[in-house]
Amino acid sequence: MSDITANLAYESHSIAHHGPRLKISEKIALTAMAIGSMLLALSLIAVNDSTSETLKNLWFNISWALAIGGGGYFALSKHLNDRPGVRNQGKTTDSLTARGAWGWMMGIVFTSFYICLYWFPRQLEGLVRIHDPFSLFMRGRAADEWFVYGTIYTILTLLMGAKAIAKYRHNRYQIIRTSVIMIVQLTFSYLFPVLAAKFSQPEIYFSYLWPLAYDKLFPSSIDHFLHSGAIGYFIIGWFVVGTFIATPVLTYYFGKRWYCSWVCGCGGLANTMGDSWRQVSDKSLKSWKIERWTIHSVLAFIVILTVVLWFEPYLPAAFKEIAFQMRKFYAFVIGAAFSGVVGVGFYPLMGTRVWCRFGCPMAAVLGLLQRFNSRFRITTNGAQCISCGNCSKYCEMGIDVRHYAQRGQNIIRASCVGCGICATVCPRGVLSLENGPLEERYNQEQGLSLLGKTKAQ
Ligand code: SF4
Ligand code: SF4
Repeated sequence: MSDITANLAYESHSIAHHGPRLKISEKIALTAMAIGSMLLALSLIAVNDSTSETLKNLWFNISWALAIGGGGYFALSKHLNDRPGVRNQGKTTDSLTARGAWGWMMGIVFTSFYICLYWFPRQLEGLVRIHDPFSLFMRGRAADEWFVYGTIYTILTLLMGAKAIAKYRHNRYQIIRTSVIMIVQLTFSYLFPVLAAKFSQPEIYFSYLWPLAYDKLFPSSIDHFLHSGAIGYFIIGWFVVGTFIATPVLTYYFGKRWYCSWVCGCGGLANTMGDSWRQVSDKSLKSWKIERWTIHSVLAFIVILTVVLWFEPYLPAAFKEIAFQMRKFYAFVIGAAFSGVVGVGFYPLMGTRVWCRFGCPMAAVLGLLQRFNSRFRITTNGAQCISCGNCSKYCEMGIDVRHYAQRGQNIIRASCVGCGICATVCPRGVLSLENGPLEERYNQEQGLSLLGKTKAQ
């Protein structure tokens, strides 16, 4: 009884204040984070080539120390002093998490950053220059916009990953999964390429396979790797084994989650920095129909592009030009505008998996494997479901999980990335991510045929 009273008191306090009140130390941390972020932004206009190394160093250290220290303390304190799990209060009314003014502002900031990164890198010059001393230390050369992007991306994944672990600390799956995401981002997607540059080795992102890294097994790439010594042979082996063996085998055993929710950098950022916006994703039937068209169209395009570029050296001049234009189109429209500007820039407006859901060709391949040849499924204990809707609300892929739960049906959807949040936020323990025999994936609806089989036996 006292637990219920305490919970009610807590809820009414939270509703009244849209969450627990901030402590003094949290206000200080929030201020430090804001000052650090503003200093980073200020570097865009105040720093240039003629700025002294000492000032750049100072600028870099102070701004990042304030942003990381303040942001980290605030996020951890806020969640560790709160009960674990999601908070529904304010999620659909807060300006930041419900497409209000703050949400739009964040969307504009993210989108502007990506537009500059892809098409107007000169606009980022000041920010790049303050990273020069760090870049010299890490890879022996001055910074460029991609080094800065990788650094920011990694810091955000680590910082917000720590926050996600604090938030979902009651759930072992989320703790392990988020820790792996953070480690993979730090090593495979950041330190390895940086160290490769330092030691003049091929700069490879090991976490990307075909079709994301569609050109790594082209004859020209293979030739380049073969001239890079032992590391080159290792890279060729990695891409061959990763694409043709690891991808189908791991997806068969674990579903697409092994990649989309444990390895991929896009999924990593979505599940760490983007966690606050997962409820914004569109759950309508219409968006499900659109996603199937768009994602498979991108996959078809990349398959054709891969084939065309493979044979490019043997094509007549006119076809070479077509191949060039196709490559340009993919890089501009899909690689930059879709995956970057819309994919991340629109986090606060369209949810965190826009790219993974509507465009990523790797997700399309894994989705087809998961849908037709995988042991992965989410099982539902329909009798326990109270139709609260938490699962559907927080599904970043826009899957109406409740629809399946109410009917006690297993969820076998190509788009499910196996993040497990639906199961984590379910107050009744209805959902369970499982791997099991292929022939027993379906139940209930599904159901009837299974029953027939049982009767027949
Ligand atoms: S159905 Fe569950 S596990 Fe799958 S993407 Fe949605 S929230 Fe994640
Ligand atoms: S499955 Fe769980 S979270 Fe989803 S509607 Fe039912 S009780 Fe709520």
